[in-house]
Amino acid sequence: MLGNIRFKLTLWYIIILGIILTSFSAFLYFTLSRSLHKGIDVKIKSIAEVIGSSSTNPYSHYSFSNIDRVLEESFGWKPVTKFIQVLDESGRIGRKSDNLQRFQLPVTIRALKNASQGKATFETTKAMGKYPLRMVTVPVVRRRHIINIVQVATSLEAVEEALNTLLLILWITVPSALVVASLGGLFLANKALKPVDEITRTARMITSKSLDQRIKLRKTKDEIGRLAETFNDMISRLGRSFKQIRQFSADASHELRTPLTILKGEIEVGLRKRRRPEEYRKIMNSNLEEVDHMTQIVDDLLFLSKADMGEVHLQKQRINLTQLVSEVHAQAKMIAMAKDITINISKDSNVTVIGDRLKLRELLLNLVDNGVKYTPTRGEMMISLERDDGRIKLRVMDSGIGIAPKDQPHIFDRFFRVDKARSRKAGGSGLGLSICKWIVQAHGGEISVESQVGKGSTFTVTLPVALPDPKEMPEAKSISEGPTFQN
Ligand code: ADP
Repeated sequence: MLGNIRFKLTLWYIIILGIILTSFSAFLYFTLSRSLHKGIDVKIKSIAEVIGSSSTNPYSHYSFSNIDRVLEESFGWKPVTKFIQVLDESGRIGRKSDNLQRFQLPVTIRALKNASQGKATFETTKAMGKYPLRMVTVPVVRRRHIINIVQVATSLEAVEEALNTLLLILWITVPSALVVASLGGLFLANKALKPVDEITRTARMITSKSLDQRIKLRKTKDEIGRLAETFNDMISRLGRSFKQIRQFSADASHELRTPLTILKGEIEVGLRKRRRPEEYRKIMNSNLEEVDHMTQIVDDLLFLSKADMGEVHLQKQRINLTQLVSEVHAQAKMIAMAKDITINISKDSNVTVIGDRLKLRELLLNLVDNGVKYTPTRGEMMISLERDDGRIKLRVMDSGIGIAPKDQPHIFDRFFRVDKARSRKAGGSGLGLSICKWIVQAHGGEISVESQVGKGSTFTVTLPVALPDPKEMPEAKSISEGPTFQN
C-alpha cells in the first residue's frame, strides 16, 4: 500500500494537517488557560487590596469586622464565590467571610514569609472541595508596619470547567477533522491520479505491433494532460521509427533479391549444358556486375547503419574545397565522356572548409554521378562553388530529366527512386542521396534540390565557412574562439 502514491500523498497530507491542528489546539488551550488564570489572579488581588485599604483608611467607617459590607460597598456585589480571611501580623486567623463558615484558608510559611517582606503570594491549593482554590495572601501595611494579612481565595471550578469543555471539543473535532480530511485527500488523490492509471494501462498494452494506440486526451492542459500528450507523441515517434525500420528491412531485402535472382538465373543457364570458354567468360562477367552491384548496396547499407549508431567518425581537417572541386571535375569529365555530356565549372578561389576530405569527395562524386545518370546524351552539366553571405554554396546542375515536385521531398529518403527500373539499369540503389544528406548534415550544412521535369535539376549544398587559418593571418590570436563548424 505504501508503494501507492495516492496513499503516500494522503498520509503526508494527514501528518502535516495533524501537526498543524495539534499545535493550534495546544496553543489555544494554553493561551486560554493562562488568560483565565491571570484574570482570576487580578480579581482576587484587587479584592484583597480593597479590603486592606479600607481597613487602613482612618476615615473608613468599615473595618475587618464586616468584610462582606466592605466588598458590597466597593464592588456592588456580595462576595459569594470569594473566600476571605484576615490574619493578624503573626499569622493567627481573625475574621472570615461568611461563606467560609467553619472552614479556614490554609496559611503557608512561604506566604507568611513573603507577607513579612511586604510581598503578595499567589498559591493554588486543593484544601477545599473537588476543584482547586486560587488564593492570594497580601500584607496590610500601615505606617511601615504590617498590621494584618488578608487572604482572598476563589474556586477554579469555572476555569477548569471551561478548559475541560474546550479539551473535549478539541478531542472530538481534531480527530474528526483528520478523518474527513483523509477521506477528502484520498478522493482528490484518486481523482488526480486516475489518468495516470489510464496511461499505465495503455502503456502496458502497447507492443511494437500496436503502436497505433493512443491515450484519450482530456480537455485540461494540466501536468497529467501534458504527460499524456508527451506520451502520445512518443508513441507516434516510435511508430514512425518502427515503420521506417520495417520499410528499410523490406526495401533492403528486396534490393538484394533482384541481383540474386539475376545471378541465380545466369548461373543456371550456364550450367544447363556444356559451353565454350567465351560463353562462360560472358556469363561470369555479367555475374561480376551483379556481385559489384550487391557489394555497393551492402557497403551503402553498412555505412548508413553505422551512421545511425553514431559509429562513423569524420576525419576533420582544413580542406581547400576549390582544389577538391577541381579534382572531382576532372574525374567527372571522364565519367561523362561515355554519354558525351559537357561539364562546366565555376569556382571562387581558396574556399576552405573544415571537414572530412574523403566524405566530401564522395558527396560530390555522388551528385555528379547522379547528374550524369539522369542526363541524356550530349547534355550539359555545371559544378559551381562560391562564398555567399558567410556560407559556402556548392551546386551541381544538370540538364537532365528533372524530378517532379511530388517526388522532390522524398529523394533523400532511403531506397526512394522515382523510376526503379531506370535507376537500377543505371546502377543505382536509392541510397546515394541519403548518404549525401548524412555527410552534409555531419558537416553542419544543408542540402536541397530545385528541379523542373524535362529541364534539369540543381542540387545545392550549403556548408559553414572555416575560420581563417591563424598561420595565414599572423595578427589573428587563436582559431579556437567560436568555430563555425559543428558535427
Ligand atoms: P539512385 O542510386 O537510384 O540514383 P539516389 O539516392 O542517388 O539513388 O537518388 C534517388 C532518386 O532521386 C533517384 O532514383 C532518381 O529518381 C532521383 N534523382 C537523383 N538525382 C537526380 C538527378 N540529378 N536528376 C533526376 N533525378 C534524380
